Amino acid sequence: SEANAGHTDAQQFWADRFWAEDELLTALRADIVARAPQIQIKAEAGAALATLLRAAGARRVLEIGTLFGYSGVWIGRALPSDGRLDTLELSAEHAEAARGWFDRAGLGEQVTVHVGAALDTLRTLSGPYDAVFIDADKTEYPTYLDRCLPLLRPGGLLIADNLFRRGAVADPTVSDPRADAVRVFADRIAADPRLQSTVLPLGDGLSVSVLIDD
Ligand code: SAM
Repeated sequence: SEANAGHTDAQQFWADRFWAEDELLTALRADIVARAPQIQIKAEAGAALATLLRAAGARRVLEIGTLFGYSGVWIGRALPSDGRLDTLELSAEHAEAARGWFDRAGLGEQVTVHVGAALDTLRTLSGPYDAVFIDADKTEYPTYLDRCLPLLRPGGLLIADNLFRRGAVADPTVSDPRADAVRVFADRIAADPRLQSTVLPLGDGLSVSVLIDD
């Protein structure tokens, strides 16, 4: 319909200005399409991440779920030159691909890809981090929350992807381990008095929480 055509034009208008991908991000996404599941964040969520990290003055960031480094490049580019990203990935193949992309993006010195199960790697890391981005095993979201809050500085950001799970999380008739765990995570970040939280309707739903500084 004409209304839909107009809607598409509007989306393109905003995309062109605020979350256009450069050559590297375009090539990185094409590499994911060729060799991996397409479960990276949307460009609009990447731009939101970058903006939030800048607002928080983030220098030290932790990411859970690297895939090929698509969100990691958005994060790395939002850091100051002495900033650091620790990103956690279960799959050795994904980690190897991500390291290649971080090098090509000129972020190789600033990003460390840790291979292994996130809950194991988290035991080896110490805070404080200025921000944490959660995007790995959905059934582990409540545990990631427990383990990440102590690593976050007061005023720090905790951001997570896939809060919507394409509508499943808000649908009381859906019960599966992933939707149930994300529902628990959503309930907890909403109710925890230490956190100021919201969910942004970007991509598959991006939650943003600030660890209250008082
Ligand atoms: N954040 C990435 C992006 O937007 O470009 C996408 C991450 S993808 C949704 C999830 C990744 O988490 C996959 O690469 C998967 O191999 C990894 N993963 C799954 N379970 C994990 C675990 N227990 N520990 C660490 N990584 C895990």
